[in-house]
Amino acid sequence: MGDQTVSYLQNALQEKGYRLTSARQVIVQELAASGGHVTADDLAVLVHEKAPGVGRMTVYRTLELLSELGLIRPVYQGTGAAHYILMDGGHHHHLVCSVCHRVIEFDDCVLGEIEQLICSRYRFQVQSHLLELYGRCPDCQ
Ligand SMILES: [Zn+2]
Ligand SMILES: [Zn+2]
Ligand SMILES: [Zn+2]
Repeated sequence: MGDQTVSYLQNALQEKGYRLTSARQVIVQELAASGGHVTADDLAVLVHEKAPGVGRMTVYRTLELLSELGLIRPVYQGTGAAHYILMDGGHHHHLVCSVCHRVIEFDDCVLGEIEQLICSRYRFQVQSHLLELYGRCPDCQ
C-alpha cells in the first residue's frame, strides 16, 4: 500500500477527466496511507491533520466520486459506519468470520475468467469486484 495506490487512484481520476485538485491529492494520499478500511469520518480527521483547509464535505464528495468510478467501495460490517476499501487493480477480497467478525484479506483472485463470462452474458461493463466469503476463522471453528 502507499505510493503505488496513490498513483493508481490519481491516474484513474485524471483518465476520467477529473482534475487533481490539491484537496483530492491529500484525500487520495491519506486514503492510500490508511490502507483502506477507513470510515469517511476517520479519513476526514486524517485529511484535516495534513490539510486543515480541506473540509469534511470535500472528503465525503471525493469518496462518493471515487466510489462511482469503482476505485473504492463502501462496505458495511456490523452496525457502524461504512468502511471504504480500495479496489486496487480492480478487485478486493475478504474472508469474513461470521462469529468474531474478523476480516482476513487475501490477494489471490479466484474470479478471473468467470468474471468475463458472467459480464459478457449480461452485457455488463465491470469496473471492479469485491469478493467476500463468509464462514468461521481458525479461532472460531
Ligand atoms: Zn472468528
Ligand atoms: Zn479489505
Ligand atoms: Zn479478484
